[in-house]
Amino acid sequence: MEESNPVVLLCGDVWHIVESSRASRRALCGAELRDRRAHSRLHTVGREHICPVCLRLNDEQQSPDARYPPLT
Ligand SMILES: [Zn+2]
Repeated sequence: MEESNPVVLLCGDVWHIVESSRASRRALCGAELRDRRAHSRLHTVGREHICPVCLRLNDEQQSPDARYPPLT
């Protein structure tokens, strides 16, 4: 099984996951990508530095059967 390593964009102080570093106007979590400072890959930046909402949505896309506790 191929490990997921999506493109991430640094917007302000937060890395967000995007589908395409150029074409995407919004991050996975819905945040507008206005302040693009850098782009990289999830594994390069490290999960602990990624927007938690993007991370959760990305994980759900990768494994639709997995269950996650709701965000509170
Ligand atoms: Zn995000």
